[in-house]
Amino acid sequence: MTTVSAVKLIQPGEIQSMPADDTPLLVYPNVADLYKDRSTRFAQLAKDHDLADWLQFCAQLTAAQATAISEIDAGEVLEENFVRESLKHGVPPLSVSTWKAGEDWQKALQAFITAYEKQEVQEPVKKVFAEFKKADAAELAKQAQAYLTLDEAEVKPEWAPFISAVLQLIWSKRAAAMTHAKIYSGENSLCPVCGSHPVTSVVRVGDRDSHRYLICSLCSSEWYGPRARCTNCDTPKEVTMLGETRESLVQGECCDDCGGYLKLMFQSRDPMMDPVADDLATIQLDMALEKEGFQRTGRNLFLMAIAQSEKTDT
Ligand SMILES: [Zn+2]
Ligand SMILES: [Zn+2]
Repeated sequence: MTTVSAVKLIQPGEIQSMPADDTPLLVYPNVADLYKDRSTRFAQLAKDHDLADWLQFCAQLTAAQATAISEIDAGEVLEENFVRESLKHGVPPLSVSTWKAGEDWQKALQAFITAYEKQEVQEPVKKVFAEFKKADAAELAKQAQAYLTLDEAEVKPEWAPFISAVLQLIWSKRAAAMTHAKIYSGENSLCPVCGSHPVTSVVRVGDRDSHRYLICSLCSSEWYGPRARCTNCDTPKEVTMLGETRESLVQGECCDDCGGYLKLMFQSRDPMMDPVADDLATIQLDMALEKEGFQRTGRNLFLMAIAQSEKTDT
């Protein structure tokens, strides 16, 4: 069992504000590499891991996403003005709440299954695909919509990872096509592009060195989040960093005010890290943090049980 200890306590005076220079506040995903890199990372993390089978399954799931992404339709190009106004007023231009699963969903689901079947398909997965093929299209579409809006009770648990994978394909492709407007004033607890929860947050390297971004669990856009500040509520108090060791790649950024925590990953500690894969590989940290009385505020679409617990904070 993993235990955690406080590795750093940040005082209110050290809380960061938004950057004054030209550091980007919103970064759309690069779908050409996103799923390929994620699949590689899952496979790497699966080695000698307690959850090896599951992480290996996730590696397959994301490998199918990597193959299918080029087949996904990016949808209508949104008007520059519309995107600009939406972002300015804090309304996600690709909002999940207004989406109705239509032809985009059908086509993406088909592309995903075709891509997955190019790999060696395990029996339980074959069974799910057979169910998908027999399922009523309207019922499947309803489950996809329900999963997006956190109505998880409506979704068959064994279908959820596949439905998630397809939804991520649709949204990341649409977000990646939004190369125009990047107006965004910052300080959102939900994705400014689609309105979904963050999966985790990452302190980046390279041209965004030392800046922290929240990573969207659905569309993979990244938005700026000042460090050392709770991403769930606007408390001006200090947050506590809890982790296995001071040097651990993944820490929990915990807030005593709202009792929430979001994981924080330091890319400088492992350039291969992936927000989704490394989140799932550190479930032990979640269990330890929950034992300390903190509630997870991030959502990982491949994991139903954890997402369930933060249904109340939307
Ligand atoms: Zn998003
Ligand atoms: Zn808080």
